[in-house]
This record gives sequence, C-alpha cells and structure tokens, in this order.
Amino acid sequence: MKSESVSKIIGILKEHHAWLDESLPMIASENVTSILVREALISDFGHRYAEGKPFKRFYQGCRFIDELESFAIELAKKLFNAPHVDLRPVSGTVANLAAYYALAKHGDRMVALSVAHGGHISHAELSAAGVMGLRTYSFPFDEKKMNINVDEGIKLVKEIKPKLILFGASLFLFPHPVKEFREVADEVNAYIIYDAAHVLGLIAGKQFQDPLREGADVVTASHHKTFFGPQGGLIISKSEELGKKIEKAVFPGLVSNHHLHHLAGLAITLAEFLEFGEEYAKQTVANAKALAQALYDRGFNVLCPDLGFTESHQIAVDVRDLGGGAEVAETLERNNIIINKNLLPWDDIKNAKNPSGIRIGVQEITRLGMCESEMDYIAELFKKAVVDKKDVKDEVRELRKEFRKIKYTFVESDAYKYISLSEVLA
Ligand SMILES: *Cc1c(COP(=O)(O)O)cnc(C)c1O
Repeated sequence: MKSESVSKIIGILKEHHAWLDESLPMIASENVTSILVREALISDFGHRYAEGKPFKRFYQGCRFIDELESFAIELAKKLFNAPHVDLRPVSGTVANLAAYYALAKHGDRMVALSVAHGGHISHAELSAAGVMGLRTYSFPFDEKKMNINVDEGIKLVKEIKPKLILFGASLFLFPHPVKEFREVADEVNAYIIYDAAHVLGLIAGKQFQDPLREGADVVTASHHKTFFGPQGGLIISKSEELGKKIEKAVFPGLVSNHHLHHLAGLAITLAEFLEFGEEYAKQTVANAKALAQALYDRGFNVLCPDLGFTESHQIAVDVRDLGGGAEVAETLERNNIIINKNLLPWDDIKNAKNPSGIRIGVQEITRLGMCESEMDYIAELFKKAVVDKKDVKDEVRELRKEFRKIKYTFVESDAYKYISLSEVLA
C-alpha cells in the first residue's frame, strides 16, 4: 500500500526519468553515473556516520567504511599521481571553502576570474570567497583567446600580493596559464589553487593540462561534471604537508560526516576512470571540437574559431543575433535539448537573465556512446530548432533510441531508466 503523497513523489521522479530518456542532456556541469555507482548509493553506507579519518573515527561501526575509504584514497592517489587526496568535501564549493580556509586567513587577497569571464560563484566575494573573508581581484582577461591575460595578470599579482591565485572556471574552453604564474606566486608568497570542478574527468583521462605538474599547490574539484561520479567534492595536494592542512580544514573545519554512500560510489568511479578514463576523455574532447565545427559550419557564432573553438568538453556560442541566451536555451528545451544560457565576457552581470551566450557540454552524451557523426547531426538539429524554428523533438527522440546505455564502465546499463525497489519487492 502506498500513500497518495508517495505516489505523487514517485510519479514526478518517473516523469523526470521518462523526459531525460527522450532528451539530449548537454549541461556542461552534469553527467550520469553507472549502475555500479548507483548500487553503492543505495547501500547502507548512506545511513552511517564516520567523522574524521579512516581508522581514527569518533564513532564505532566504521570497520568496513574505513577499509573502503582508505582503498578509495589509494585509487585516487594513483589516478591523479598525487601524494595526498581528501575525498570528504561534500561538494566542489565546500572543497573551495576548505582550500581557502586551509591556506589563507580573513582579509587576505585572492586573484581569480570574474563570473562574467567564467569564474564560479564560489570564487566571488558574494559567495564562498566572501564567506571566508577573502578580498577578491579579477584576472585581466583576453576575450579573443577566452583566457587569462598573462602579462597583465602577473603585473596585478606583483601589485596586490595576493595570498591565493585561483585558476579554473565554469566557462572553461582552454587550459589556464598555471606554469606562467608559478614564479610570481613564489615571489609574493602565494598559493596556487586550481579549481578543476569542470575538467577533473579530462585531467584524469590525461586530455587536459596537468595542474599539479604545472605548479598548482592544490587542486579542488567536484566529482560529477566531466568526472562521472556521484555528487561531491575532493581536494588533491602536491605534498603530504599541504595535505595535512587541507585535512584539518575539511574536518573538523567544514564537514562533519562525509556522505559515505557517495564515497562508495566515488570509489567505483575511480576504478572506472583507471580503466576507461583516457578513452572517454579523448572522445569527449573530440566530440566538443566536432560539434563546435559543425555548428560553426551552419552559421552559429561559436567562440574562438581561430583557436579550434575548444580544448575541453565545452563550447560557447554567442547567440545575440538569435534572440539571446535565454530565448535560445528555452527554445532548445522545448525540443528536448537541454543546455544553459551563459554570460559571455562582454556581458554585464546585471544581464544574467538574458546574457549573450549559451554553453554546451558534450561529456554526458559522450558517456552515452555518441561520437563525431552524431555531433554533426546534433548541430543540424540545433539549426532546425533555433534558426528554422522547426520542431525537432521527434528527431531527438529517435536519436536517443540508439544511445540508451552508459558506456565507459564495467557493466553497461540503461542510462535513465527508473529503477523501483518498492515495486520489485512489493
Ligand atoms: C560547479 C563548480 C563548482 C562548485 O561545485 P559544486 O559541486 O556544485 O559545489 C566550483 N567551481 C567551479 C569552477 C564550478 O564550475
């Protein structure tokens, strides 16, 4: 017997699943987990507490949690070739908070990208950076290259002497100049944080820059964007010594219990990346370039044509001449193509409701097994929907019928099928 409320809730979930099953999920910050990860998510780990570090807990009952967490840490150290990782931050924002807390103090300065230039809200004073009392300064930005202006940036760092220099972004087309800033960071005694929330999966698959080897002190990230884990955060440190500082900031600083079912799911994702990560990341970047080219060939104003459009999983398109980012994103949504509107460098943040651009991510459709030829077809669907104002829902539905399964894992399964435990057990 089910209550009306429960039926309603499950009904909504089922409708969501059914919609996704006929859609192209192309939000650049999302992904889909394998059935193995989902199995971990419904395990009893999700009911338990494990404050602190493996084998040094405050509660009893952690024997197997300790074993799993220390194994996950070993897998992560191997995957990222790093002496220290902390898998406990419960999100990318909490990972950033912990890095700020560990490496700076109230009133210190930080240089990072502004939100209009691709920086994440957690880099800004109105969000996590401000919560930690940091005073933020924006990197000078080269709009043509969609990247940090190195000479001007170094000048700024020399002038304001920040404690933190933060790389990484949410609109992130090309590797950031980490190497170029290492010397000036040492000169002014600043730490370099690299926020890999978006590109962790590409880094793990060795298809983007390697921030630790290029001079970053710590790398913060989310588990669930190009890295296809359950939602969560992590911090990689270049030394044990820095890692110790990070550990204290995470616990007892910012996290009490670290969502142990997500930890178990993350461990499985780490194993998936050690096996399939390189292949997946390669195809992801190839797909992004292919889609960008195909859109450009159909008249879309894709940014950075001279630079090959992108080196990541993302594409940015200026759609001012098509009604602006909000209108285009809504038109695509009505056609079951899910992307988001996005500020472009010349936009005023006050215009966030209808900015110039859209941001497209190909990592999730890559996970569904799509390759370059599908990117060409998807560009055609974009054009039909946005430029010709035709309805392409049926075409989207048909395309998705051929790409139902999650790839780059040990057990392929339906991507968006609703799995009902209560119905199976009833
Ligand atoms: C998404 C994102 C974050 C925050 O991650 P959450 O896991 O959503 O808290 C941090 N930094 C950047 C650059 C991001 O894009």
